[in-house]
Amino acid sequence: MPAREPDHPITIHCPHCGGQNILADTCASWNVETQEWKLSNVFDDTTCDDCGIDVSAVERPVQEGA
Ligand SMILES: [Zn+2]
Repeated sequence: MPAREPDHPITIHCPHCGGQNILADTCASWNVETQEWKLSNVFDDTTCDDCGIDVSAVERPVQEGA
């Protein structure tokens, strides 16, 4: 997953309720050196924690000063 341009931050929204409690399916691998789980992959499947269903998350640019 490419890093986001810091000049163009976005928020992730649920298309049903508009909320931002969106969870993405991910894979993590154990890093022995840091003793932490390291995110290795982020999948396109997203779930709205509020609606409790799989959704197609909507990306919106963060408005300056909002
Ligand atoms: Zn929702």
